[in-house]
Amino acid sequence: MSGHVNRGHSFVVFVVLIGVGLVTLLGYYFGYVPYLQAGSTSTQKTTLLMDTVVDIRVDGRNPEVLIENVFDTVEDLEGMLSRFIADSEISEINRRAGQWVKVSPLTLEVIELGLELGALTGGAFDITIGAVLDLWGFGSGEYYVPTEEELQSVLATVDYRNVEVDKGKSQVRIPRGTVLDLGGIAKGHIVDQGIQILRNARVERAFINAGGDISAIGRRQDNQAWRVGVQDPENPSEIRFILPLDDQSVVTSGDYQRFFTYEDVRYHHIIDPRTGYPARGVTSVTIVGDNSATCDALSTAVFVLGWKEGRELVERVPDVEAIIVSSTDVWISPGLAKVVTR
Ligand code: ADP
Ligand code: MG
Repeated sequence: MSGHVNRGHSFVVFVVLIGVGLVTLLGYYFGYVPYLQAGSTSTQKTTLLMDTVVDIRVDGRNPEVLIENVFDTVEDLEGMLSRFIADSEISEINRRAGQWVKVSPLTLEVIELGLELGALTGGAFDITIGAVLDLWGFGSGEYYVPTEEELQSVLATVDYRNVEVDKGKSQVRIPRGTVLDLGGIAKGHIVDQGIQILRNARVERAFINAGGDISAIGRRQDNQAWRVGVQDPENPSEIRFILPLDDQSVVTSGDYQRFFTYEDVRYHHIIDPRTGYPARGVTSVTIVGDNSATCDALSTAVFVLGWKEGRELVERVPDVEAIIVSSTDVWISPGLAKVVTR
C-alpha cells in the first residue's frame, strides 16, 4: 500500500495551569518555557523526554537540583521501559521472547501493574499489543492499513495472560512472537516516580506534566487546587473543560494525539485488542485518580471500551473519576461533575 499518509500531532495535551497564568497555554503551543509570575519561589523547567514535552514546576528549597534529579530519573526509566530503545529491559524481553529474562524490580513492578490492569479491564488494556502496533506502523512511522488476515495473525500474539512473572527471581517471560509494549502505562509510572522523588524531598507544592500525564503535589500558592485544562478533541487548540487537581493525577487519551489518515479515514494509536483496529466510539477520555500509572492505563482502557462499557469500568473502579467525550456526547462522572467547569 502506498497511500498518502499524514502524520498526526504527537503534540502535548494543552494544559492550562491557571495559577501560573495563561501564558502557559501559549508556552506549550509555541514550545517555549513559560515565565513565572514575579514573587513566586517556584522554578519551572521543560525538556523533551519520552517523545514528549516534560514540564516540571517545584516550589521550595533547591528546586533546580530536584528538577534535574527528576529529569535524570525520567531519562533512566525511559531507558529501561521503552521498547524503542535498543538496550532497554523491555527490548531485551522482546528480543528474547520465549526465554526468561532478568529485569530490575522497577520494570517488574510496571509489568505486574500492566497485567493487573489487563485483568481489571477484561483485556481492554493489554501490554502484549506490540505486534499489532508494529503492523500498523505506529512506532516506525511507516503507516500501513493491514488486511483482516494480517490482523488476525498478529492478534494471536496478544494476550496479557501469557506473560509469566517470576517475582522471586525477578524475571519475565513472554511467548515467542509476542511484543511487549508499555506505551499505555510507562509514562504514568515514570511520572509517579518523579512525584515520589519530590515527596521524599518534602516538597509541598509541585506539578509534573509529561505530555498530558499530569500530577500535582499539594495546592497552589493561594491554597486553591491546581486547575488543568482538557483539550477539545474536535478542536485540540481549544480547552473544553477545566478541572481542579488537588494532590492528584490526571491523564487524557485522545484519538487526536497520534494518528495517520488514509483514504479519508483516521487511524490512531489506541488499539482495541478484540479487533486489532483503532478503537472507535469515543474521541477522548480523561481520568483523574491518585496515581498517574493507573490513570494512564485506565484512560487507554476506557477509550478502548467506549461509551457504555468504559463508563461501567469507571463506575466499578473506586477512587477514579472520568470525563468521556464522544463526537455527540459527554459523560462526567458524578464526583467530577460538581467541580468541572465549562
Ligand atoms: P499517549 O501515550 O499518547 O498519552 P495513551 O496513554 O492512550 O496515549 O497510550 C497509547 C499507547 O498505549 C499507544 O501508543 C500504545 O503504545 C499503547 N496501547 C495502544 N493500545 C493499547 C491497548 N489496548 N492496551 C495497552 N496499551 C495500548
Ligand atoms: Mg494511557
